[in-house]
Amino acid sequence: MKIRYFDNAATTRVKKEVLEEMLPYFNERYGNPSSLYSIGRISKKAIEEARKKVANLINANPNEIYFTGCGSESDNTIIKGIAYSRRKQGKHIITSQIEHPAVLHTCQSLEKQGFEVTYLKVNKDGFINIDDLRNSIRNDTILISIMFANNEIGTIQPIEVISKIAKMYNIVFHTDAVQACGNIPIDVKKMGIDALSLSGHKLYAPKGVGALYVKNGIEFEKFMDGGHQEKNKRAGTESVAGIVGLGKACELANQNLREHMNHLKELRDYFISQVEEKIQGAILNGSKQDRLPGNANFAFPTVDGEALLLNLDSKGICASSGSACTSGTSKPSHVLSSIGLSDELAHSSLRITFGEDNTKEDIDYLVTSLCEIVQKLQKR
Ligand SMILES: *Cc1c(COP(=O)(O)O)cnc(C)c1O
Repeated sequence: MKIRYFDNAATTRVKKEVLEEMLPYFNERYGNPSSLYSIGRISKKAIEEARKKVANLINANPNEIYFTGCGSESDNTIIKGIAYSRRKQGKHIITSQIEHPAVLHTCQSLEKQGFEVTYLKVNKDGFINIDDLRNSIRNDTILISIMFANNEIGTIQPIEVISKIAKMYNIVFHTDAVQACGNIPIDVKKMGIDALSLSGHKLYAPKGVGALYVKNGIEFEKFMDGGHQEKNKRAGTESVAGIVGLGKACELANQNLREHMNHLKELRDYFISQVEEKIQGAILNGSKQDRLPGNANFAFPTVDGEALLLNLDSKGICASSGSACTSGTSKPSHVLSSIGLSDELAHSSLRITFGEDNTKEDIDYLVTSLCEIVQKLQKR
């Protein structure tokens, strides 16, 4: 059976060009980038080339990019790193209720160590309230961490407004841009972003590599002790092939951003209009505007989400009920709860996330299957 993949927010397929660029670094070019002989220098040079490409995608300087093992590591590194290095200035952090667990659980871990965290509420579309943000700032606030775009409902936060407020109070502003990078334009200079996390496997590079941007001049304590790699901020021999892959993926994303966005947007809008037309009672979760181009999330009242996924799977369709990180537990998604969905509606929700391989024909198949399955599972 043909697999139709609509779970690009969970992970993406490594692009052919990305894989090809990586392959030599597994054997011919296996030198340790810290070694001084020629094949070591080749690896070192490949890393520095990749660093430029990652920097280019978000308009950072190459020396502001640190390679990490994943998006979660980037989030941990900067949130803990800022907290520990500024603990004399303050112990208060502001974030939102709908962050990825990599941010939420990091903040919870800091709370156990004596830091205080404000988790901003969001409205029914998933936006934080700017007045709430302003009002929650204290004399001892050291960090604001608000995600660029949400992984479940695709809501894009007003990043420039947030960064201006952070700047006004001299607070570091970090954004988890794992879902946004490669899908919408990001310019850290223009947007006033101090720190940003991204991950390879969400933008057609492999799993197990990520990057962290930190603006020059912002101090943070390192996360891992050991060798002096990554300007002494991230010990451990670099995943050269992974980094090369991430660099290539960022280069391609940069070249094709407009086309890619338009392609996803077209698929998403077609899917949303088809569902609204053909499935009675379907409710779109999240905002219609300011939404990631490839994200759709619907609640189908009275339909059991797990049964829905299993039925879709039997037709070769991969989708998600919430996020990959919360599925497998019976608790409703914290994001859907935060935007006001009842537990029942949250359990009836389906996330569809499009990627570059999807076609209109895929969506017709998806909509037909969905109509059939929802009708079968709906309780009357
Ligand atoms: C996937 C994801 C992460 C975690 O990235 P990993 O590379 O899987 O650790 C963090 N934040 C968001 C918004 C994500 O979607």
